Order: sequence, then structure tokens, then C-alpha cells
Amino acid sequence: MSDESEEGRPAPITPKKKLVKKGEPSTSQRDKHRAQEYRQDWEKLDLFKDWLGPGKNQFRARCTVIDVEMVSEYGILKLHSSRQKHIKATSAMQSKTKQHDIMSAFVTKGVMPKNKVVTATEIKLAGFLAEQ
Ligand SMILES: [Zn+2]
Repeated sequence: MSDESEEGRPAPITPKKKLVKKGEPSTSQRDKHRAQEYRQDWEKLDLFKDWLGPGKNQFRARCTVIDVEMVSEYGILKLHSSRQKHIKATSAMQSKTKQHDIMSAFVTKGVMPKNKVVTATEIKLAGFLAEQ
């Protein structure tokens, strides 16, 4: 019967033996030369927020605008963001997004009657096309 009363109590926590041995190199020393990994923090930076995404592994980053992968290093990404091809693609994408925002603003506001909404959108569109 003494066994039963033992079971009711929580088992005493036995401290695990410390595996860290003195004299071993710390992980930070060993990882000195490892490749830079992709950081999601970068997606929040003004420079990268419009196009940066993760690549196929943690050492790769992706430009979602021109759909291209590159080494996930800050310097490389920064360089990419200044590339002519990238800037052109990004600004084209942004003007498309803006155009969409204008249209959805007209449609969702509901201030104007429906036929007028169409007219306003058409005028905006015509102006947009004339600018190109
Ligand atoms: Zn790009």
C-alpha cells in the first residue's frame, strides 16, 4: 500500500546532468563563417517591403516583382533594389496598384449614382492612358 501513496505525489524533479563541458568552443565561435540567412525583418524595410520574399531555402531571397531569386545577403538585396530592371518593374506595379485603388474607392464609396461612377472611372482611365 505504500506504493499507492507514492503515486499520488508529483515525482521529484531530478536535475539533468549538464552536458556542457568546459573548454568546448561556443556555437557563436563555430558559426563565424556561415552564410547569411534570410531575415523576415528585411521585408519591413522601406527598401525591400514592396518586393522582397523568401526564396527556396533560408539562404535565398526572392524578388516577387520580377520573380527572380538571389543570395539572401543584405548587400545583394540592396544592390538588386537599385537595379534598373527592378526599379522599372516596381514602378509599373505600383502605378497599377494605384489605379486599382482609385477604382475601388469609387465603387465602394457609393456616394455617386452608379452610372456616374462608371463615367468618373472612364475619365480617370482615359487620363491614365493619355499619360502613358
Ligand atoms: Zn526585383
